Amino acid sequence: MSRPQDPRTYDLDALRDRVLPERDGQVSTSIPQLADADPDLCAVAVALPDGTVRSSAQGDVAVSVQSAVKPFLFALALLDTDGEAIERIGIEPTGEAFDAIKLESGTGRPPNPMVNAGALLTAALVEGDGVDERSERILRGLSAFAGTDLVVDDDVATSEHLLGDRNHALAHLMRAEGTLAVGADDAVAVYARACAVMVDARSLAVMGATLAGGGVNPVTGVRVVPATVARDVVSVMATCGVYDGSGRWMRRVGVAAKSSVSGGVVLSARGGLGAAVLSPPLDAQGTSVRGRIASEILADDLGLHVFGGW
Ligand code: GLU
Repeated sequence: MSRPQDPRTYDLDALRDRVLPERDGQVSTSIPQLADADPDLCAVAVALPDGTVRSSAQGDVAVSVQSAVKPFLFALALLDTDGEAIERIGIEPTGEAFDAIKLESGTGRPPNPMVNAGALLTAALVEGDGVDERSERILRGLSAFAGTDLVVDDDVATSEHLLGDRNHALAHLMRAEGTLAVGADDAVAVYARACAVMVDARSLAVMGATLAGGGVNPVTGVRVVPATVARDVVSVMATCGVYDGSGRWMRRVGVAAKSSVSGGVVLSARGGLGAAVLSPPLDAQGTSVRGRIASEILADDLGLHVFGGW
């Protein structure tokens, strides 16, 4: 392994140029807004512990956050329940698709917070009376992670709510098991709005850095969640964040990460570095193809693999 390069001078545009010719993968067709995504969008960003944020070209092009929101929903649920959320949800990888209609056997809990069942529950555990208040609290929490005022794309939220049949099924299943305290439709509505929050690579990298840095946003200096919450969240990202591709991801990239159907990948590395890649074409596990390749190269070049370094 060659000497790690300095993230303060690392050439992010060169990395983008290297992965841009990759043509594998398909954009998600789950909702019209995702089906319309530009397959040639590609952006890479890093956020450093000293608060420096750097990006390639297109670092300020926003997409809906989709499942990259899940670690942050888990964090907010842990915060708002004083850690009690950890008992309400499993933390084991499933080896199954993100939207599998399945709960933990014996307990009826969602298997982990990185799959849809888990995120429907964590979103419902965030403080707030009803859909609007809870959604507002989530938006404020996500903005604190990003260090900037994020916004919701209402059309994306509506599509997610109307077309998310499997999410409705999961919410009803959790109601039947007694796991979900709020109404099924309300749970889907809040989760759909959370998925529809718009992020660019720069803000997503800061969100990753806030978790990587023990819960303190490196840009604003604001503590968003306690260090114990950040550690719990990053641990579960490491084991479950890339769904049924999590094992291969950990072997090859070695950095806790969360993928999303909009083509976002958020990474939280040891030492407090956050990174993000946005590029819509996805592989069979729903992970951005360029996102995976760029993450591998970035982890190699910056020496980020948690078990590497020799
Ligand atoms: N909103 C998507 C869904 O619930 C998120 C899935 C993902 O990003 O992996 O189906």
